Amino acid sequence: MSVLATLAFMTICASVLLDIRSGKEELARQSSENLAATIDADLSRNIEIYDLSLRNVVNNMLELDTQHISLPILHLILFDHAATAKYYGPIRVFDADGNLKLDSSTLHPAQENRADEEYFKVHRDNRDAGLYIGDPSVYRNTFAVVLSRRITGYDGKFLGVVVGSLRYSYFHDLFGKLTFNPEDSVTIFRRDGVVMMRQPFDIAVIGKSLSDSGTVRHILETPSGSTKTRSEIDSIERMYVWRNSERPLVVVVGKSLDSIYGTWWTQTLIIGGLMFVLSIFAIGTTLFLTREISRRAAAEKRLSQLATTDALTGIDNRRRFDERILDEWRRGWQKLPLSLLMIDADHFKAFNDLFGHQAGDQLLARIAACVAESAKRPADCAARYGGEEFVLLLPNTDLAGALKLAEEVRDRVVRLSADKWATTVSVGVACLVPDMAGSPKDLIEAADKALYEAKEQGRNRCVASDAERATEAA
Ligand code: GH3
Ligand code: MG
Ligand code: MG
Repeated sequence: MSVLATLAFMTICASVLLDIRSGKEELARQSSENLAATIDADLSRNIEIYDLSLRNVVNNMLELDTQHISLPILHLILFDHAATAKYYGPIRVFDADGNLKLDSSTLHPAQENRADEEYFKVHRDNRDAGLYIGDPSVYRNTFAVVLSRRITGYDGKFLGVVVGSLRYSYFHDLFGKLTFNPEDSVTIFRRDGVVMMRQPFDIAVIGKSLSDSGTVRHILETPSGSTKTRSEIDSIERMYVWRNSERPLVVVVGKSLDSIYGTWWTQTLIIGGLMFVLSIFAIGTTLFLTREISRRAAAEKRLSQLATTDALTGIDNRRRFDERILDEWRRGWQKLPLSLLMIDADHFKAFNDLFGHQAGDQLLARIAACVAESAKRPADCAARYGGEEFVLLLPNTDLAGALKLAEEVRDRVVRLSADKWATTVSVGVACLVPDMAGSPKDLIEAADKALYEAKEQGRNRCVASDAERATEAA
């Protein structure tokens, strides 16, 4: 029972702990989602603003007669304020051969040819490249992400490229404003799996393609979600959360499982430990109490047995007989006959005198056994009434039956005494149907009277309280 209660208690504790665990996980997921959304919003807004500037240059290059507008005016028209903002590099325009034509940072740019650059080749060979985000690289002495657009003539002809850059100081400043656990990470992937930026920052990782990683592929193919895995970069187990992975740059926030479950594990260990100690204590106490209770019950049973057993003969004692006859008398009110045999050893004083008290004791035990042998039904009660007197109480037994048993006892004692220890018993037999007016005393007196009669008639015989039905030994 206590084991079941302990098990139930442990199950409740375990389910509460699991609830707390999933709560912590959900909280971590939500906060990572919020962080990813914040970074994504800032990044997208900045790229969109810069892209607008690039589009503006592309459109005006097509619309304006650039040959006949003075350079300062052309600069004013082409390059808006966005191009001069803190994190943006200068916007530059290259012609179809890769020669630098315009530079937002100077009216007189030096001669330069970028026909070999990847962004140039991509736009030259691909009409629909749109906004091309290049690999992280050193662009004009600054570590930056190069952003470019194609200038396509109305006839579809490649006319050149417009190139700008987003400096890495933007990412550093953005991440610097956020507070991170040292084991957490934020990674910005390009759609093809190239790492554009990562916090914690490691220059060796920037520009690396992780497109072979199953997890990265899953992230780029699923619009938003979360997954738990070990990092391919620093081998820390994290929960990775991402949103809006349809954008050109995908923000993935990784929260280390240690930081998510760290306090939970501590709580679990403390609660689990306490539960274990309490369970052991509860089970131990229950086992101890159960053993004590059964030991006490056994001791009480033994005591009550001792209290109702005759020490010399081992059969019931007078006290037990008094209880039993009262019980049976009350039960006998249901009109069932109740018989009693009063058995007394003949000339026992003489026996004692002849063989000694110890031999007398032994003989009393053997006579008791002879009496007990006739107590065949569970309700029968053989007891030592006192001295060398015994009783046999026979519920639901009529006088004839009682007399038969009395003869049995007498005969058994005669046979027992075949040798030098010759002894006999006289038996007084009485049978009454108990009623509410009478008491057990009536039955005892009747049996006693019959016993007196048996002694009077010469002993070693059974006499019923009805004198006419007495039997006499041969
Ligand atoms: P009767 O045939 O008339 O019954 O004669 P009796 O000698 O048996 O009767 P009496 O009442 O004169 O004597 C009973 C004797 O039983 C006295 C006593 O020595 C003996 N006796 C009673 N209790 C014990 C006992 O526990 N052990 C022994 N050894 N003898 C006992
Ligand atoms: Mg006597
Ligand atoms: Mg006697």
